[in-house]
Amino acid sequence: MTSNADIVIIGAGLHGASLAYHLAKAGAGSVVVLEKKHVAAGPTAKSGAMIRPLFSDAIYIRLVLEATAMFEQWDDVIGGDAGFVQNSFLRFTESFDQPTLGADLDLMTRLGAPFELIAPADLPGLAPSCVFSGSESGVLLTKGGFADAIKTTESLVAAAKRLGVRFIEDAEVTGIDVANGKVQAVVTASGRIATGLVVNCAGAWGDRVGAMAGVTLPIEIHRVPTALYRKPESLRVPGPILSDGINQIYLRDAGEGYLRAARFGWTADRVDPDSYDETVSRAQHDDVRRLVEQRVPAMRRTPSVGGFSAIYDMTPDGHPIVGPVGDIDGFWCDCGWSGNGFASAPAVGAHIAAAITCKTSEVDLSPFAWPRSADATPRPDVSWVRR
Ligand SMILES: Cc1cc2nc3c(=O)[nH]c(=O)nc-3n(C[C@H](O)[C@H](O)[C@H](O)COP(=O)(O)OP(=O)(O)OC[C@H]3O[C@@H](n4cnc5c(N)ncnc54)[C@H](O)[C@@H]3O)c2cc1C
Repeated sequence: MTSNADIVIIGAGLHGASLAYHLAKAGAGSVVVLEKKHVAAGPTAKSGAMIRPLFSDAIYIRLVLEATAMFEQWDDVIGGDAGFVQNSFLRFTESFDQPTLGADLDLMTRLGAPFELIAPADLPGLAPSCVFSGSESGVLLTKGGFADAIKTTESLVAAAKRLGVRFIEDAEVTGIDVANGKVQAVVTASGRIATGLVVNCAGAWGDRVGAMAGVTLPIEIHRVPTALYRKPESLRVPGPILSDGINQIYLRDAGEGYLRAARFGWTADRVDPDSYDETVSRAQHDDVRRLVEQRVPAMRRTPSVGGFSAIYDMTPDGHPIVGPVGDIDGFWCDCGWSGNGFASAPAVGAHIAAAITCKTSEVDLSPFAWPRSADATPRPDVSWVRR
């Protein structure tokens, strides 16, 4: 094992991969990524991976717009294939006001996020498989889409490796040595790597890695189910991701001939990230199917092909924890993305790398600093993880 590095990243999920790539591109010195299992072993692999700038905070809109531009030219910018499918994203809603929609359309307009308002009469033309009440409207995000979460992560890893980053799998970090208020090294079963800067990209294990440096991070792990279905005939024509704000459910393509569906938001179901039940219960299947069938009657005639549970790394306000944390020199975080960290990740790494290398950056990540500043605004509601 390497005995020293300028920067050690803990975790090779999407955030660790993105940061590694951008640090190498910024010429930040020697970078090592330590991953306890393998690349994209955590929640990244199960992500809905939907990308749409539908938010009420400028920071997310900016980051997702920047990431979308990267996804659109992935092979040229990063190299390889992120599995990006840009068939647009359609949100059904009963009102365009911010709390109902979970997004601020004025702010999105000011920041250049492209969208179209869809009148009730025009919804069936865009989503012919759905039934509508007549009072529902839509917001169509023409540049919305989804990617393949594993391919996205793997191509960022490959790009980082080409730039000299070393990824070490099966290398669980078990300790962080701190002396005189400064990070000295990370410890694994195979040895110690001396470093002055550690970035905690451990996602659902972010609080545990924080504890190794003596830092308390308020991250709770909650279990969330996703159901999988065969695609009925009427949904075989490519169309937008269906994001049903009334039934609080989304439905999107999941590879050739399959669909995935899940509820918006999250309910409290606290688990251990190393031993949680990855299945979906009968009651959870019935719940998702009922909501999907209400909107898409053809779903009554298609079989479920199982599903899986995954985990969100929730912070108290649903915002991530990004930047230097604690009184320790050399301990940074990029974790706690609270079920919403896929869409922005390819861009986030660039802005953290700029902060680490003391370069200017167009996106100010300070709203994600921990602890939050006194004037930080909470999210509009606690179940804000909207799809
Ligand atoms: C079901 C689901 C649907 C989602 N849908 C969307 C969506 O549509 N759009 C969106 O924007 N976001 C979505 N998200 C959220 C998004 O996928 C996550 O925010 C993002 O993938 C988190 O990536 P990460 O790299 O921070 O963490 P993780 O994926 O948790 O990766 C952390 C890595 O660190 C490693 N690790 C942990 N501890 C150690 C250690 N001690 N030593 C070494 N390695 C360690 C782990 O093995 C893991 O590989 C969804 C999430 C889920 C679960």
